[in-house]
Amino acid sequence: MNALVAPEPLPVALSAEKTSLLARLVDGLAADELYWIAAWSAARAGQARHGLRRADTAPATAPDPSRLTLLYGSQTGNAKRLAEQFAARSESGGLPVRLIRADAYPLRELAKETHLLIVISTQGEGEPPDDARGLVEFIAGKRAPRLTGLRYAVLGLGDSSYPQFCAIGRQLDERLAELGATRFAPLGEADVDIDASAAPWSVGALEQARQSLGTATPATVRSATVPAPGGRGLPSREQPFAASVLANQRIVSRDSARAVHHLELSLEGSGLRYAPGDAIGIRPTNPPALVGQWLQALRLDGGEDVAHAGRTLPLAQWLGQECELTRLTRAFVAAHAAASGHADLMRVLRTEHAAAFAGLLASHQPIDLLHRYPGPWRASDLVAALRPLTPRLYSIASSPRAVGEAEVHLTVARIEYEAFGAPHWGAASAFLSALAEDATVPVFIESNDRFRLPADDARDIIMIGPGTGVAPFRAFVQDRRETGARGRNWLFFGNRHFTRDFLYQVEWQEALKSGALHRLDLAFSRDGARKTYVQHRLREQGRQLYAWLEDGAHLYVCGDASHMARDVHDALIDIAVAHGGHSPDAASAWLADLLTQGRYVRDVY
Ligand code: NAP
Repeated sequence: MNALVAPEPLPVALSAEKTSLLARLVDGLAADELYWIAAWSAARAGQARHGLRRADTAPATAPDPSRLTLLYGSQTGNAKRLAEQFAARSESGGLPVRLIRADAYPLRELAKETHLLIVISTQGEGEPPDDARGLVEFIAGKRAPRLTGLRYAVLGLGDSSYPQFCAIGRQLDERLAELGATRFAPLGEADVDIDASAAPWSVGALEQARQSLGTATPATVRSATVPAPGGRGLPSREQPFAASVLANQRIVSRDSARAVHHLELSLEGSGLRYAPGDAIGIRPTNPPALVGQWLQALRLDGGEDVAHAGRTLPLAQWLGQECELTRLTRAFVAAHAAASGHADLMRVLRTEHAAAFAGLLASHQPIDLLHRYPGPWRASDLVAALRPLTPRLYSIASSPRAVGEAEVHLTVARIEYEAFGAPHWGAASAFLSALAEDATVPVFIESNDRFRLPADDARDIIMIGPGTGVAPFRAFVQDRRETGARGRNWLFFGNRHFTRDFLYQVEWQEALKSGALHRLDLAFSRDGARKTYVQHRLREQGRQLYAWLEDGAHLYVCGDASHMARDVHDALIDIAVAHGGHSPDAASAWLADLLTQGRYVRDVY
C-alpha cells in the first residue's frame, strides 16, 4: 500500500507532512496489520481524550442517534478503565462512542439519548461513586424524564464480599426500564476479578449495541486483539513493573497496636509517571503462614500439580500467588456449603437470613469457614472455586517534584489480628510491610483524575485524612511546597495515640515551621476519656472552615469510607447550618454543589 486514502469525514485533518510520514510507516503492511494499527490508534485516542487529559470538561458533541453514549462513574478508577477499553474496542470496530465521566454529563441530554451504556461501581454499603452521585440521584428522582426512545445497558462493578454487591448497577438497570427504556443487553455484573468477569459481557454488549445501532461488524476487527489504553508498552495492571524497595520503615512506635509502614519504591526504568492524588496498584502474594493454614485445614498437599485456566502450577503456588484467600464471598460460601454439606451454611445463604449473612461476610475470612465447617475439597475444585487474587490500591504519599519521577512512596497499615483462635492477615499489607530492602514488588499506576490539587494554585486547600488516609496529603503538601503554590494548606489528622501513632510527625512540624503547611488540627482518639475524631476538630473550627470554603477553598477527604467519611460529611453539613445560616436541606445542597464542582473530593474505601 503506497497511498493513504483519508477516511471521511475526518474531524481533524492530518498535515501533509504527517500524512506522508504515516504513509511511509505503513507501507507494505498487510490488511490485518493495518486494522491492528487502527485499533491501537483508537485506544490511544481514547486515552488522550479521557485519561491523560481530563475527561471532566463538558462533552463537545450532543447526543447523536448514530453513536453510543457511554457514561462512567468510578471511585478507584476501575469503571473508568473498563469504559475506556469498551470505547476503544467499540470505535476500532466502527461504532462511534461519546465517552463521558458521569459528573461531566449534562443531565438534560438524557431525554434525547437513543443508545446509552453506563459503567458504574458500587461503594461499600451500596453507594454510588462520588462522580456519579448527581446522575444516580437524577435517574432515581422525580425529575427523571420518560425514556421510551432509549435503548440501554448497564455494567455494574462491585465486590461480592459486600452484601450490596453491584447495588447501584442493579438500581440503575431497573430504574431505566421503569422509565420506559429498553435494554439492548442484560445487566452485567463484574466482581473484583473485573477483567475476567467483564470481558465476556463486553463482547456480547458491544455486538448487541452494534445490532441495535445498525452498524455492521467489520470481519477483520471482530477477531483482532485490541490493545488496552495504556498502550505504549507501559507497565499496567496486567503487566506490572517489578519495583525495587528502596526503604521500608515502621513509622509508629513499638508499642503501637497497629504497625504502619512507610515504603519507598523505585520506578527507575519503568516509564511510569504519576501525579499527587494517584494511587499505586500492588499485586500481593498471600502470607505463607496463611497458605500453610489452608493446606493443613484441608489436608491437601501443596506440591500437588493443579491445572486450571490453561496453566498447571503446584497447589501452594495457586494459593500463594493466584487465589484470593482473605476475602469471603457469597460464591465461596455457597461452594463450601455444597462441598461440606453443612445445613447452617446452606441456611445462611437464604434471602431471609440476609443480616446473618452480612455478619458472616464481615467477621469471617474463608479460612474461618474451613475451620468452623470442615469439609472435603479436591485441590482442582478449590482452585476453580476461589476468585483470582486482585491488586490492591494505595494512595501515593509522595510528589514526583519532591522525590524525583523515579520514586514513589506509600503508607501501609499492617492488618494482623487474632480471631477464632488463629492469626489473621490482610493480604497486601502483610506482604508489603514484610518486604526487605532490594526485594521487588509488582506495581502499576492507577490515575485518579478527580483527586487533584486545584489548577489555580492561589486556592486554599483543606485536607482531612485520619490514619493512613493522610498518605495523599503528604504528596499534596510536598507538591505545593515545590511549586511555591500561593494558597494555604490546612490538614486535619487523627489517629489513636499522639505518642505512638502520629504518622509523619516530624515532617508536619517542619512543614508548619517552613510555611509549607499553614494549619494542623489533630484528633487522637484514644488519649482522652472520650473519643476525639477529626470531625470534632472540624466542628470546633467550623467558622474558619466555612469561611475558607466560601473563599473558594478545595476540600479533600481520604480514608475509611464506611464510618469516617460519612461522619465528616455530616459534620460539614452541620458547619454550613451553624456558620452559613443554611437550613439542613440547603446545607446538604450546598455540599452536594461543592461535590459537583469538584471542590469537595474523596478518596475513600
Ligand atoms: P484507623 O485505625 O481505622 O483509624 C484512624 C483514626 O480514625 C483512629 O483514631 C480511629 O479511632 C479514628 N476513627 C474511627 N472511627 C472514626 C469515625 N467514624 N470518624 C472519624 N475517625 C474515626 O486508620 P487506618 O487503619 O490507618 O485506616 C485508614 C483507612 O483509610 C482504611 O479504611 C484504609 O482502607 C483507608 N485508606 C487508606 C489509604 C492508603 O493509602 N493507605 C488510602 C485511602 C484509604 P478509634 O480507632 O480510636 O475509634
